[in-house]
Amino acid sequence: MTTPIFYTFPLTINRNLTCIHCNSNNCERYLYGLEEGNYIFCSSCEQQWPDEADNSFGQLERERDRFWDDHSEVIKMALESFTTINSFGKKKINYKKFIPELLEFFEDNCKMLEDSEIQKLDLTFSISNEGVDLVDYYLTDYRGRF
Ligand SMILES: [Zn+2]
Repeated sequence: MTTPIFYTFPLTINRNLTCIHCNSNNCERYLYGLEEGNYIFCSSCEQQWPDEADNSFGQLERERDRFWDDHSEVIKMALESFTTINSFGKKKINYKKFIPELLEFFEDNCKMLEDSEIQKLDLTFSISNEGVDLVDYYLTDYRGRF
């Protein structure tokens, strides 16, 4: 197992970007410079412009990273309720049931999502099975040692 990185909650914030010039969705957000912040680049028309929601989006990403610390007990209990041990002692997580509930919990409890600038954005959230394994490792095995 590779060493996990703990400061990022492995929940992905997917942001659907639309070009302000040609309406294409072929856009990417990238760091233009430390002072300028993030820009959005459209590969269809090759235009770029500053990300208007840059500050709020950055705040949302930071709040996401703090989320599993702020709610670790609740997430741990939920995860345990979807975890079984098979007859060989192998741990099995029911990802199909846990993932939608975790995403719903995030959407209901991440205060930054109520921000008016954030609400204008086309956002969806996802987490992979590997991401859930990482959450499990962090909340049960790793933290349990302290
Ligand atoms: Zn464009």
